[in-house]
Amino acid sequence: MIGTLRQMLTCHWSARRIQRYLDADPAAPLTPGDVSRLEEHLATCERCNRIAAEHRALHRALSVWSGGTGVDPRSLERVRGFLATITDEDRA
Ligand SMILES: [Zn+2]
Repeated sequence: MIGTLRQMLTCHWSARRIQRYLDADPAAPLTPGDVSRLEEHLATCERCNRIAAEHRALHRALSVWSGGTGVDPRSLERVRGFLATITDEDRA
């Protein structure tokens, strides 16, 4: 049980950092410790891998869209809403 709770807390911790990790946002960088903890978790956690995959898909879509006529804000909102659902699903 303790292991499961630890895993859930790590998932929650990781889910909140995956976007910053993939964005590599210079305004909100992860510490090297955070990065290695996150990568370690991603190596073992299928659920967080799914979240990371969704973020990567969003990134690809954004780079395609921004190379064209611009991003439809409503499409962006829909994707962001979907990601928020995944990220927040374990919030009680
Ligand atoms: Zn996880």
